[in-house]
Amino acid sequence: MIQDIFRKDLGDFESYSAGKTDYKVRLNANESFTNLDFETRKEIGTVIENSIYNRYPDPDALEVCDLYAKYANVLGINVMAGNGSDECIQIIAHTFLNTGDKVAMQSPDFSMYGLYTKVAGGIPIEFPLGAELELDVDGFISMANSEKVKIVFLSNPNNPTGNIIKREDIIKIIEGCKCIVVIDEAYFEFYGESILDKIDFYDNLIVLRTCSKIGLAAIRLGFMITNNVLMSELKKVKPPYNVNSITQSIACVILKKPEIIYNNVKNILAERVYLWEKLSCINGIKLYKAKANFILVEIPNALEIKEKLLKQSINVRSYTSGKLLNCLRITIGSREENNCLLKNII
Ligand SMILES: *Cc1c(COP(=O)(O)O)cnc(C)c1O
Repeated sequence: MIQDIFRKDLGDFESYSAGKTDYKVRLNANESFTNLDFETRKEIGTVIENSIYNRYPDPDALEVCDLYAKYANVLGINVMAGNGSDECIQIIAHTFLNTGDKVAMQSPDFSMYGLYTKVAGGIPIEFPLGAELELDVDGFISMANSEKVKIVFLSNPNNPTGNIIKREDIIKIIEGCKCIVVIDEAYFEFYGESILDKIDFYDNLIVLRTCSKIGLAAIRLGFMITNNVLMSELKKVKPPYNVNSITQSIACVILKKPEIIYNNVKNILAERVYLWEKLSCINGIKLYKAKANFILVEIPNALEIKEKLLKQSINVRSYTSGKLLNCLRITIGSREENNCLLKNII
């Protein structure tokens, strides 16, 4: 049987299903609610028209990395581009894990940390968050060290909780954990605090960023930023030509005009204030701290509400087990989308 040659450890894996995407109001995937403006899309059109299609892309996406470095206030040599930060997570796992190596993460946190750990043959060790979905920092560090994990993955702000780990605690974790510490700042723009300034100060720190949450989910572009020593190791595993020419060209157009990003973030933050205020008026609802572009709410009969919303073609993220039972993760939408949600959620 052909199945005999399959990996036994993938037996219980399921392919990732993002589900149907054609809902009218899409508040389930933490995307930005505004498309690029017409002028910018026209400019991109010209760039695409003049692209070179018969040649491979720049394998190191040098111009993109340099522009992103400028945006993030670091050096280009410390930046690697990936096909989404998902690919960066995968590259990290494959660079440092041997079969059976352990990786520490919070529960809940971004599901790709566990997935790519297992795909690389590693073992995810989950550390449960507290009653308010807060992290017991000292407990986490001693767990990571006693389990002798090779990598720690933490999203900050956390997806799906929206909570943050304070800078002093991030530093405590980097200094306390005897392993690679990956701080995933996918939602940095909505929080404003970063640990990027420390990448050269520690030998074990990798920071992840993405373009997906700030208006460019379509082009699949993420970054990892780290010191030279870790960077040369990660480069051994990076697939050549992993970021295609079109993505590189589009990213260059946008990163040369970062005000497009700033504006987008400003609008999302204003809507976050609006949605938070309106949601908090609902009887029996509990809102968790919202430092990203979504709000996690706990509400009785969350799954019924989810179904009711789907009938109106409104999609939010729901959870069926554990601490997030009865929670919905609602991405910040436009004013119209937010009102549509508010009208139908009660
Ligand atoms: C959305 C998200 C990512 C981004 O993934 P891309 O592959 O860059 O789209 C990474 N980490 C977290 C925590 C996220 O929520």
